[in-house]
Amino acid sequence: MKPSSQPFALVIHGGAGVIERDQLSADEERSIRVDLDAALEAGRRILASGGSALDAVEAAVVALEESPRFNAGKGSVYNAEGRHELDASIMEGKTRRAGAVAGVETIRNPVRLARAVMERSPHVMMISAGAERFADTQPQIERVSNGWFDTDARRAQLDQEQARERSEPGDESLRGKYFGTVGAVALDSQGNLAAATSTGGMTNKRYGRVGDSPLIGSGTWADERCAVSGTGWGEFFIRNAVAHDIAARMAYGGNTLVVAAESVILQRVPEFGGDGGAIAVDLDGNIAMPFSTAGMYRGWIAMDGSRGIAIFRD
Ligand code: ASP
Repeated sequence: MKPSSQPFALVIHGGAGVIERDQLSADEERSIRVDLDAALEAGRRILASGGSALDAVEAAVVALEESPRFNAGKGSVYNAEGRHELDASIMEGKTRRAGAVAGVETIRNPVRLARAVMERSPHVMMISAGAERFADTQPQIERVSNGWFDTDARRAQLDQEQARERSEPGDESLRGKYFGTVGAVALDSQGNLAAATSTGGMTNKRYGRVGDSPLIGSGTWADERCAVSGTGWGEFFIRNAVAHDIAARMAYGGNTLVVAAESVILQRVPEFGGDGGAIAVDLDGNIAMPFSTAGMYRGWIAMDGSRGIAIFRD
Protein backbone atom coordinates (compact mmCIF):
# COMPACT_ATOMS: atom_id res chain seq x y z
CA MET A 1 0.00 0.00 0.00
CA LYS A 2 1.33 3.45 -0.90
CA PRO A 3 1.78 5.67 2.17
CA SER A 4 -0.49 8.72 2.11
CA SER A 5 1.05 12.18 2.06
CA GLN A 6 0.70 14.63 4.92
CA PRO A 7 1.58 18.27 5.48
CA PHE A 8 4.48 17.72 7.89
CA ALA A 9 7.92 16.13 8.15
CA LEU A 10 10.03 14.93 11.06
CA VAL A 11 13.60 13.64 11.30
CA ILE A 12 15.39 12.45 14.44
CA HIS A 13 18.91 11.28 15.23
CA GLY A 14 20.39 9.29 18.09
CA GLY A 15 23.97 10.25 17.29
CA ALA A 16 26.68 9.58 14.74
CA GLY A 17 29.90 7.73 15.47
CA VAL A 18 31.83 4.53 15.32
CA ILE A 19 28.86 2.21 15.06
CA GLU A 20 30.14 -1.08 13.65
CA ARG A 21 27.66 -3.62 12.43
CA ASP A 22 29.54 -6.53 14.00
CA GLN A 23 29.72 -4.80 17.41
CA LEU A 24 25.99 -4.30 17.70
CA SER A 25 24.13 -7.43 18.78
CA ALA A 26 20.79 -8.20 17.17
CA ASP A 27 19.09 -7.53 20.51
CA GLU A 28 20.77 -4.17 20.98
CA GLU A 29 19.95 -3.15 17.46
CA ARG A 30 16.32 -4.13 17.94
CA SER A 31 16.06 -2.11 21.17
CA ILE A 32 17.64 0.94 19.56
CA ARG A 33 15.23 0.73 16.65
CA VAL A 34 12.27 0.42 19.02
CA ASP A 35 13.38 3.51 20.96
CA LEU A 36 14.00 5.53 17.79
CA ASP A 37 10.57 4.56 16.52
CA ALA A 38 8.93 5.55 19.81
CA ALA A 39 10.59 8.99 19.61
CA LEU A 40 9.44 9.38 16.02
CA GLU A 41 5.93 8.44 17.08
CA ALA A 42 5.97 10.97 19.96
CA GLY A 43 6.71 13.74 17.46
CA ARG A 44 4.41 12.42 14.76
CA ARG A 45 1.38 12.36 17.06
CA ILE A 46 1.80 16.08 17.73
CA LEU A 47 2.33 17.02 14.09
CA ALA A 48 -0.56 14.83 12.87
CA SER A 49 -2.98 16.60 15.18
CA GLY A 50 -1.90 20.00 13.88
CA GLY A 51 0.59 20.69 16.66
CA SER A 52 3.70 22.80 16.31
CA ALA A 53 7.14 21.78 15.08
CA LEU A 54 8.50 23.15 18.36
CA ASP A 55 6.33 20.81 20.46
CA ALA A 56 7.18 17.90 18.16
CA VAL A 57 10.97 18.28 18.37
CA GLU A 58 10.77 18.72 22.13
CA ALA A 59 8.64 15.57 22.52
CA ALA A 60 10.90 13.51 20.27
CA VAL A 61 14.04 14.64 22.10
CA VAL A 62 12.46 14.00 25.53
CA ALA A 63 11.68 10.43 24.40
CA LEU A 64 15.31 9.94 23.37
CA GLU A 65 16.59 11.52 26.61
CA GLU A 66 14.47 9.00 28.52
CA SER A 67 16.06 6.06 26.69
CA PRO A 68 19.26 4.79 28.36
CA ARG A 69 20.58 3.80 24.93
CA PHE A 70 21.50 7.31 23.83
CA ASN A 71 23.97 9.82 25.17
CA ALA A 72 21.44 12.35 26.43
CA GLY A 73 19.47 12.47 29.68
CA LYS A 74 19.43 8.94 31.17
CA GLY A 75 22.42 7.11 29.68
CA SER A 76 24.59 10.22 29.29
CA VAL A 77 28.34 9.69 29.21
CA TYR A 78 30.55 10.40 32.23
CA ASN A 79 33.02 13.24 32.45
CA ALA A 80 36.55 12.73 33.84
CA GLU A 81 35.26 13.10 37.43
CA GLY A 82 32.71 10.33 36.94
CA ARG A 83 29.77 12.74 36.82
CA HIS A 84 27.34 13.80 34.13
CA GLU A 85 27.15 17.31 32.66
CA LEU A 86 24.35 17.72 30.15
CA ASP A 87 23.86 20.20 27.31
CA ALA A 88 20.76 20.97 25.20
CA SER A 89 19.24 23.56 22.90
CA ILE A 90 16.05 24.28 20.97
CA MET A 91 15.14 26.80 18.27
CA GLU A 92 12.00 27.90 16.44
CA GLY A 93 12.50 28.96 12.81
CA LYS A 94 10.01 31.71 12.06
CA THR A 95 10.45 33.63 15.29
CA ARG A 96 14.17 32.79 15.69
CA ARG A 97 13.51 32.25 19.35
CA ALA A 98 16.09 29.96 20.94
CA GLY A 99 17.01 28.51 24.32
CA ALA A 100 19.98 26.51 25.57
CA VAL A 101 21.56 25.07 28.70
CA ALA A 102 25.05 23.68 29.25
CA GLY A 103 26.73 21.73 32.01
CA VAL A 104 23.56 20.95 33.97
CA GLU A 105 23.70 18.08 36.45
CA THR A 106 20.24 17.52 37.91
CA ILE A 107 17.84 18.18 35.03
CA ARG A 108 16.08 15.01 33.95
CA ASN A 109 15.21 16.43 30.51
CA PRO A 110 17.62 19.22 29.58
CA VAL A 111 15.72 20.05 26.38
CA ARG A 112 12.75 21.07 28.55
CA LEU A 113 14.96 23.47 30.51
CA ALA A 114 16.32 24.86 27.22
CA ARG A 115 12.75 25.56 26.17
CA ALA A 116 12.04 27.20 29.53
CA VAL A 117 15.07 29.47 29.03
CA MET A 118 13.60 30.40 25.64
CA GLU A 119 10.05 31.02 26.81
CA ARG A 120 10.33 32.02 30.44
CA SER A 121 13.48 34.12 30.55
CA PRO A 122 14.83 37.04 28.54
CA HIS A 123 17.97 35.02 27.75
CA VAL A 124 19.09 32.41 25.23
CA MET A 125 21.65 30.40 27.18
CA MET A 126 22.30 29.51 30.82
CA ILE A 127 25.08 27.33 32.16
CA SER A 128 25.84 25.03 35.10
CA ALA A 129 25.00 26.42 38.56
CA GLY A 130 23.10 29.39 37.12
CA ALA A 131 20.97 27.15 34.92
CA GLU A 132 20.25 24.96 37.95
CA ARG A 133 19.16 28.05 39.92
CA PHE A 134 16.87 29.05 37.07
CA ALA A 135 15.46 25.49 37.13
CA ASP A 136 14.69 26.01 40.83
CA THR A 137 12.18 28.67 39.73
CA GLN A 138 10.51 26.36 37.18
CA PRO A 139 8.29 23.83 38.97
CA GLN A 140 7.51 21.98 35.71
CA ILE A 141 11.19 20.99 35.34
CA GLU A 142 11.85 17.57 36.88
CA ARG A 143 15.02 17.21 38.96
CA VAL A 144 17.01 14.06 39.66
CA SER A 145 20.26 13.24 41.44
CA ASN A 146 23.32 13.13 39.19
CA GLY A 147 23.59 9.38 39.81
CA TRP A 148 20.17 8.91 38.21
CA PHE A 149 21.86 9.32 34.80
CA ASP A 150 24.26 6.41 35.52
CA THR A 151 24.33 3.31 33.35
CA ASP A 152 26.76 0.38 33.45
CA ALA A 153 27.48 0.70 29.73
CA ARG A 154 28.65 4.32 30.02
CA ARG A 155 30.67 3.53 33.15
CA ALA A 156 32.47 0.80 31.21
CA GLN A 157 33.19 3.31 28.42
CA LEU A 158 34.71 5.73 30.93
CA ASP A 159 36.82 3.00 32.56
CA GLN A 160 38.06 1.91 29.15
CA GLU A 161 38.87 5.45 28.09
CA GLN A 162 40.74 6.25 31.31
CA ALA A 163 42.72 3.00 31.05
CA ARG A 164 43.60 3.90 27.47
CA GLU A 165 44.72 7.34 28.57
CA ARG A 166 46.99 5.86 31.22
CA SER A 167 48.57 3.53 28.68
CA GLU A 168 48.95 6.21 25.99
CA PRO A 169 49.68 9.41 27.93
CA GLY A 170 49.65 12.52 25.77
CA ASP A 171 47.13 11.18 23.25
CA GLU A 172 44.36 13.69 23.73
CA SER A 173 42.64 13.11 20.42
CA LEU A 174 38.90 13.07 20.87
CA ARG A 175 38.23 11.15 17.68
CA GLY A 176 35.61 8.49 18.13
CA LYS A 177 34.82 9.53 21.69
CA TYR A 178 31.44 10.94 21.01
CA PHE A 179 28.42 8.89 20.42
CA GLY A 180 24.70 8.94 20.86
CA THR A 181 23.78 12.61 21.08
CA VAL A 182 20.13 13.06 20.13
CA GLY A 183 18.24 15.59 18.05
CA ALA A 184 15.09 16.30 16.07
CA VAL A 185 13.99 18.65 13.30
CA ALA A 186 10.43 19.19 12.11
CA LEU A 187 8.21 21.06 9.67
CA ASP A 188 4.62 21.48 10.86
CA SER A 189 1.38 21.92 8.93
CA GLN A 190 1.54 25.71 9.43
CA GLY A 191 4.90 25.85 7.66
CA ASN A 192 6.95 26.40 10.82
CA LEU A 193 10.33 24.74 11.35
CA ALA A 194 12.08 23.83 14.60
CA ALA A 195 15.18 21.98 15.79
CA ALA A 196 16.41 20.59 19.11
CA THR A 197 19.54 18.76 20.28
CA SER A 198 20.52 17.16 23.63
CA THR A 199 23.70 15.44 24.79
CA GLY A 200 25.89 14.27 27.63
CA GLY A 201 28.86 15.45 25.53
CA MET A 202 32.00 13.37 25.24
CA THR A 203 33.24 10.55 27.50
CA ASN A 204 35.99 11.66 29.92
CA LYS A 205 35.49 15.37 29.09
CA ARG A 206 36.95 17.78 31.62
CA TYR A 207 37.25 21.38 32.79
CA GLY A 208 33.66 22.30 31.99
CA ARG A 209 34.01 21.32 28.34
CA VAL A 210 30.98 22.28 26.27
CA GLY A 211 30.46 20.98 22.73
CA ASP A 212 28.37 22.19 19.82
CA SER A 213 25.02 20.73 20.89
CA PRO A 214 23.85 23.65 23.04
CA LEU A 215 25.38 26.29 20.77
CA ILE A 216 22.87 27.94 18.48
CA GLY A 217 24.34 27.96 14.98
CA SER A 218 26.74 25.09 15.66
CA GLY A 219 24.74 22.07 16.85
CA THR A 220 21.24 23.49 16.36
CA TRP A 221 19.66 25.98 13.99
CA ALA A 222 16.21 26.81 12.64
CA ASP A 223 15.08 29.70 10.47
CA GLU A 224 12.22 30.29 8.03
CA ARG A 225 13.92 28.10 5.40
CA CYS A 226 15.35 25.07 7.23
CA ALA A 227 16.01 23.36 10.57
CA VAL A 228 19.21 21.47 11.46
CA SER A 229 20.48 19.32 14.35
CA GLY A 230 24.05 18.03 14.35
CA THR A 231 25.99 15.24 15.98
CA GLY A 232 29.69 14.53 15.89
CA TRP A 233 33.02 15.83 17.04
CA GLY A 234 31.72 19.01 18.64
CA GLU A 235 34.90 21.07 18.48
CA PHE A 236 34.83 20.88 14.67
CA PHE A 237 31.12 21.63 14.54
CA ILE A 238 31.74 24.78 16.58
CA ARG A 239 34.68 25.88 14.46
CA ASN A 240 32.63 25.46 11.29
CA ALA A 241 29.32 26.83 12.62
CA VAL A 242 27.88 23.70 11.05
CA ALA A 243 24.14 24.11 11.55
CA HIS A 244 24.14 27.74 10.47
CA ASP A 245 26.49 27.08 7.57
CA ILE A 246 23.97 24.62 6.12
CA ALA A 247 21.25 27.28 6.37
CA ALA A 248 23.56 29.98 4.95
CA ARG A 249 24.44 27.91 1.90
CA MET A 250 20.72 27.69 1.15
CA ALA A 251 20.04 31.36 1.85
CA TYR A 252 23.02 32.97 0.14
CA GLY A 253 24.28 30.26 -2.18
CA GLY A 254 20.96 29.00 -3.49
CA ASN A 255 21.92 25.42 -2.58
CA THR A 256 19.24 22.81 -2.12
CA LEU A 257 18.97 21.40 1.41
CA VAL A 258 20.68 18.15 0.41
CA VAL A 259 23.58 19.87 -1.36
CA ALA A 260 24.06 22.31 1.53
CA ALA A 261 23.99 19.60 4.21
CA GLU A 262 26.25 17.23 2.27
CA SER A 263 28.80 19.96 1.45
CA VAL A 264 29.19 20.86 5.12
CA ILE A 265 29.11 17.36 6.63
CA LEU A 266 30.89 15.35 3.93
CA GLN A 267 33.42 17.99 2.80
CA ARG A 268 33.88 20.97 5.07
CA VAL A 269 34.06 19.23 8.48
CA PRO A 270 36.30 16.35 7.27
CA GLU A 271 38.58 18.87 5.50
CA PHE A 272 39.43 20.23 8.94
CA GLY A 273 39.87 16.77 10.47
CA GLY A 274 36.48 16.34 12.15
CA ASP A 275 33.59 14.01 11.50
CA GLY A 276 29.93 13.53 12.32
CA GLY A 277 26.48 13.92 10.85
CA ALA A 278 23.41 16.13 10.72
CA ILE A 279 19.70 15.90 10.10
CA ALA A 280 17.85 18.69 8.32
CA VAL A 281 14.42 19.53 6.91
CA ASP A 282 13.37 22.47 4.74
CA LEU A 283 10.20 24.42 4.17
CA ASP A 284 9.18 22.15 1.29
CA GLY A 285 9.60 19.07 3.46
CA ASN A 286 12.84 17.90 1.83
CA ILE A 287 15.02 16.02 4.27
CA ALA A 288 18.77 15.38 4.49
CA MET A 289 20.67 13.01 6.83
CA PRO A 290 24.34 12.98 5.76
CA PHE A 291 27.09 11.53 7.98
CA SER A 292 30.80 10.91 7.52
CA THR A 293 31.07 8.32 10.31
CA ALA A 294 30.43 4.58 10.08
CA GLY A 295 26.86 5.04 11.19
CA MET A 296 24.22 7.45 12.47
CA TYR A 297 21.10 6.38 14.36
CA ARG A 298 18.25 8.09 12.55
CA GLY A 299 14.55 8.02 11.78
CA TRP A 300 12.29 10.02 9.49
CA ILE A 301 8.74 10.63 8.41
CA ALA A 302 8.68 12.38 5.04
CA MET A 303 5.86 14.43 3.53
CA ASP A 304 5.01 11.62 1.13
CA GLY A 305 4.16 9.54 4.20
CA SER A 306 7.23 7.30 3.97
CA ARG A 307 8.74 6.44 7.32
CA GLY A 308 11.96 4.71 8.27
CA ILE A 309 14.67 3.95 10.81
CA ALA A 310 18.30 3.34 9.83
CA ILE A 311 21.68 2.96 11.51
CA PHE A 312 24.25 2.16 8.86
CA ARG A 313 24.64 3.21 5.25
CA ASP A 314 21.65 1.15 4.17
N1 ASP B 1 28.45 16.78 19.32
C1 ASP B 1 28.45 16.28 20.67
C2 ASP B 1 29.50 17.00 21.48
O1 ASP B 1 30.57 17.29 20.95
C3 ASP B 1 28.70 14.83 20.75
C4 ASP B 1 27.88 13.95 19.83
O2 ASP B 1 27.30 14.42 18.86
O3 ASP B 1 27.78 12.73 20.09
O4 ASP B 1 29.28 17.23 22.64
